[in-house]
Amino acid sequence: MKIDHLGIAVKSISDSLAFYREGLGLELAGTETVDDQGVRVALLPVGEARIELLEPVSGETPVGRFIAKRGEGLHHICYEVDDLASKLDELRSRGVRLLEGYPRRGAEGKLVAFLHPASAHGVLVELVEKARTS
Ligand code: ZN
Repeated sequence: MKIDHLGIAVKSISDSLAFYREGLGLELAGTETVDDQGVRVALLPVGEARIELLEPVSGETPVGRFIAKRGEGLHHICYEVDDLASKLDELRSRGVRLLEGYPRRGAEGKLVAFLHPASAHGVLVELVEKARTS
């Protein structure tokens, strides 16, 4: 298991890139819009993991509401798993609450699911299924 990325909620990707690119020296690997979650996403690799900057497309999205309530900041931690469906079944059987209860398509078309922060000691946890090479 490894950390795939850290999701950081920002008001504006273009404003925050000055810090991440010029300040920290990270490189922008790409941006995309994830319609399902109402966010624009910018991915910046750090070793094997990435920083995922999340800019809401409107205030009426999960990340938009997060920023309105708590301001910009660390939004979630994403772990990579081999088999998302079986991991979710296992977590459910242990009483862990899932945010939506089923996998969805996240950035790069990968299967993702979120665990409820109440079941993860106050942290929003995302799980992403490892990309199949075949
Ligand atoms: Zn994420």
